[in-house]
Amino acid sequence: MTETKKGWKDLPIGGNILEAGNSQHYFTGTWRTYKPITDLDKCINCLQCWMFCPDNSIVIKDGKMDGQDYDHCKGCGVCAAICPVKAIDMIKEEK
Ligand code: SF4
Ligand code: SF4
Repeated sequence: MTETKKGWKDLPIGGNILEAGNSQHYFTGTWRTYKPITDLDKCINCLQCWMFCPDNSIVIKDGKMDGQDYDHCKGCGVCAAICPVKAIDMIKEEK
């Protein structure tokens, strides 16, 4: 069953964190203005993007980079900046 994620209007008053690890329940990808797009043919699976992503939004499948978790990626661009082979492009988010 797919979990229904909460939006920013569901945040507790003051943005208090009332439960450890609750960020996974919030759909924070809607904050994004730029979106990372990965060319997996260029990717050398160094996993630096996974190490540096501040939102734990790099998807790893069978030990390899497999794109981004767009439910939680906020489009900061760190993964694109850190990628040594420029496999990630930041594009304007569609409205
Ligand atoms: S753009 Fe930022 S939040 Fe999104 S996957 Fe890359 S490093 Fe993570
Ligand atoms: S940093 Fe670039 S090359 Fe390394 S795993 Fe991420 S996308 Fe692939």
